[in-house]
Amino acid sequence: MRRIVCDVLISGQGFTGSALACALAGTAGEAREMRVVTVEQDKQMPASPGASVSQDGRASALNTTSLRLLSRLGVEDHIRDAIQPVTSMQVCDGELDEAVYLPFLSFDTSGDHDGNKAIAFIVSNSALREGFARQLAKKTSVTRLFGQRIEAFKVTNTRTWVKLDDGQEIEASLLVAADGARSRLRDLARIKVLRRNTGQWGLTASVALGYEHEGQAIQHFFPGGPFALLPLPGAFASLVWTEPAHRARCLMELPLDALHEELIRRSGCRFGDIRLVSTLQGWPLFFQIARSFVSERIALTGDAAHLIHPLAGQGLNLALRDIAALTDCIQEAVCLGLDPGDWQVLERYQRWRRFDTVMMGTAMEGLNGIFSNDMDPIRMVRDLGMGLLERVPLLKGWMMSEAAGEVGTLPRLLRDFGD
Ligand SMILES: Cc1cc2nc3c(=O)[nH]c(=O)nc-3n(C[C@H](O)[C@H](O)[C@H](O)COP(=O)(O)OP(=O)(O)OC[C@H]3O[C@@H](n4cnc5c(N)ncnc54)[C@H](O)[C@@H]3O)c2cc1C
Repeated sequence: MRRIVCDVLISGQGFTGSALACALAGTAGEAREMRVVTVEQDKQMPASPGASVSQDGRASALNTTSLRLLSRLGVEDHIRDAIQPVTSMQVCDGELDEAVYLPFLSFDTSGDHDGNKAIAFIVSNSALREGFARQLAKKTSVTRLFGQRIEAFKVTNTRTWVKLDDGQEIEASLLVAADGARSRLRDLARIKVLRRNTGQWGLTASVALGYEHEGQAIQHFFPGGPFALLPLPGAFASLVWTEPAHRARCLMELPLDALHEELIRRSGCRFGDIRLVSTLQGWPLFFQIARSFVSERIALTGDAAHLIHPLAGQGLNLALRDIAALTDCIQEAVCLGLDPGDWQVLERYQRWRRFDTVMMGTAMEGLNGIFSNDMDPIRMVRDLGMGLLERVPLLKGWMMSEAAGEVGTLPRLLRDFGD
């Protein structure tokens, strides 16, 4: 069996692994393009048209810097028609039996007349998957292997030697784990994680709305967890609905009519009739962070490194930031003729990303704890805090920049060069 020799081997070809492969494919090292191999456990999916509504009901809210990254990687060209900018957002704090949910926080950029000033950009996961697949297919320096997993690996001073399930061997300078929350590569490298079960599930689906959304998103905080409708192109939206696990299971078994009534009630009748146009899926929600993002010749990225609550839709945004930072570290090393798997390169990546991730994960945990709570004193404090935020433009502006991903030292791929 042939042995493959490459610079970087990526385990997992989800969004994180695909983004890294696209980013590194254009990088020149030692006067030649970097050779990248991706190893994905699933079989290669046949190409599907980039539908703006996912059959699996999943969509992602991308911030401005993530969209900039997708544009630099050439992926945005394939998904442009499937992207819906969010131009206004209403956040409500309600009890289910209240007649109307009054917004206590609202964001509006609809007056800016500048597509890039949107609060976020929503894109169906199927369109995004297809966009990455099309872009990767153009990259001749990327070898994509499907239906394979890493079985074992050995690290020496200068290389790693990897054996796949089918016995094939690969030699690489750096291994990158992008194989999701249950990362096998992370386990093989014996990197432990801190993990907390939130006891909640995230329910997701694509829905058809009775009225046009006009770019508006809603997020209603109920005692069981947040309920969000994020606009998709046309009169469609992506549902992200958090409930305690036992309640989520009951909701998934409801007859369709009863479920539609629940959706209309929770949306405060804002969009008229709401109908599922995909299956309703349930995702157990965990907070998880790897104790280290690196090990000898190994870097963890995306969900393999961190899992956070989806209430602010930041998981993939964090993952893309990992990719931009790791690409910066690797590119700088190869430009200097250094080894991309060198410990100094990996340490720099870890210093850049771990603190940021811990902060974001903890903030999401805190917010979820404060909002998924019906105790009167906690409600009072949060209403006071949100009232203050609504009235102080400076605070609100800071929060918007934070959500847009514009805060902190940005890697080159995320910076705004005015292009
Ligand atoms: C309900 C919900 C809503 C969300 N909404 C948002 C949002 O709006 N915005 C946002 O930014 N984020 C959101 N997220 C988070 C986001 O979906 C994830 O952070 C992101 O998809 C992680 O991508 P990944 O590629 O790191 O991991 P994954 O998507 O898990 O991909 C891992 C890949 O590796 C493969 N793999 C696994 N094991 C192996 C192995 N041993 N060998 C080879 N391949 C392997 C898998 O098949 C898969 O293709 C949400 C999450 C949830 C649960």
